[in-house]
Amino acid sequence: SVGRQRAPPKARIGAPLEGSPSKAASRPTRQPPAATTQIEATMLQNKLSSRGAPHRSHAGRVLAPATSAVRARASRSTLRCAAVAESRVLKTVNVDLGDRSYPIYIGNGLLDSNAELLRKHIPGKRVLVVTNDTIAPLYLEKTVKALEAGGKLQVESVVLPDGEAYKKLDVLQAVWDKALECKMDRGTTFVALGGGVIGDMTGFAASCYQRGVYFVQVPTTVMSQVDSSVGGKTGVNHPLGKNMIGAFYQPQSVIIDSDTLMTLPDRELASGYSEIIKYGLIRDDALFGWLEKNMDKLLARDPEAIAYAIERSCINKAEVVAADERETMDMRATLNLGHTFGHAIENFAGYGVWLHGEAVATGTLMAADLSCRMGWIEKDLNDRIIAIMKLAKLPTEPPKGMTAADFMELMSVDKKVADGKLRLVLLKGPLGGCIVTGDFDPAKLQETLMHFTGK
Ligand code: NAD
Repeated sequence: SVGRQRAPPKARIGAPLEGSPSKAASRPTRQPPAATTQIEATMLQNKLSSRGAPHRSHAGRVLAPATSAVRARASRSTLRCAAVAESRVLKTVNVDLGDRSYPIYIGNGLLDSNAELLRKHIPGKRVLVVTNDTIAPLYLEKTVKALEAGGKLQVESVVLPDGEAYKKLDVLQAVWDKALECKMDRGTTFVALGGGVIGDMTGFAASCYQRGVYFVQVPTTVMSQVDSSVGGKTGVNHPLGKNMIGAFYQPQSVIIDSDTLMTLPDRELASGYSEIIKYGLIRDDALFGWLEKNMDKLLARDPEAIAYAIERSCINKAEVVAADERETMDMRATLNLGHTFGHAIENFAGYGVWLHGEAVATGTLMAADLSCRMGWIEKDLNDRIIAIMKLAKLPTEPPKGMTAADFMELMSVDKKVADGKLRLVLLKGPLGGCIVTGDFDPAKLQETLMHFTGK
């Protein structure tokens, strides 16, 4: 974001919070006191690209939307309305992955010290909370207190610099440094407190530390609550490609405290909503209809509306992940609706200028336009998609100056290019159906690009 382009701060690794030293840093009986390490905080110089990305060669086929029967089954088997007043868990969604299954708890007040959920899925005694210097002043002390409340856990923390530019290996090193300085063993749990950047980095750090320790996700952005914290994709960027170094590594649990969204900037909020719209378009027509009627409530941060939208999104993500954990089929790839166009926009604008969800919103409109030109969706549906993006106050046009040729060049290095052929997630059939395919008319793609760029 524009806000994220401020001068790079010096990293404070395990440093106490200003004005309110964390217990972790101040307790005398602790292992080595919190060390302060300076990370050379250079902004990402090289524009990331997906060059060198692995090729995939799946046959394009229409993927069935979640049927009402599937949804009913999901509601029975993966969704439990706990409605436990004390802990304020409103919903629980399970991600079914055999012995690696885990719960997603959605509620409010889940970081309060009387809420036990945060501690419930931590098997050992040692905990390392990983967060960044924007979130630490807001939620670190509270989280550490909640973890320590039972009197059983010994908690340390690491504060990384905020921003996508710091999602890289040398910054991640600070997490392992801290864990080793504190002599953390294989029974340790890493807790990711933050948005998608912190979640991806912490999960990857956990997957490598002593060949794998436990980790718990505490996502604090809409994007991370409805998407990135669920499904086990973890990693960091490489100068030659976004998210190119990483691992599939599932958490022990995901704790979604919707209270944290109250401090999220408006732009970040709307950006996350584009991923919720995505679930509606690719597999959940009822969710899309609900969003058309309730977007104003979501923008006003109505807690009930937010909890519902997060729950439905997590159910959809959990079903997709359970069916295609490692994206070996086209199922998980459908989550990338609008992303091929969107990545081109992010790359053209310079990473961080457009938020990911903003680029995906415009990308989704371009995918819908192409689907319509192919005759795969009705014009009426295309109009509804344009309308909802406007309702959510998301951008509907690519950056000024971006041409059709720019799109073609940037999209040609997309991860979904297989054997030199561009593959896209496109909409097909009634609302809630999509296809992953390279079998679209290139002339129609050109028409779409000209329609959006004018040149
Ligand atoms: P982010 O993590 O950069 O967070 C956005 C901004 O909001 C940051 O400045 C952050 O410090 C701040 N913030 C976070 N929570 C806040 C709160 N409660 N109050 C105030 N400010 C807060 O961005 P994001 O959109 O959450 O995630 C984007 C990242 O997620 C990208 O790196 C992307 O690659 C990754 N991602 C991963 C997956 C996956 O499956 N693993 C899926 C989608 C995206």
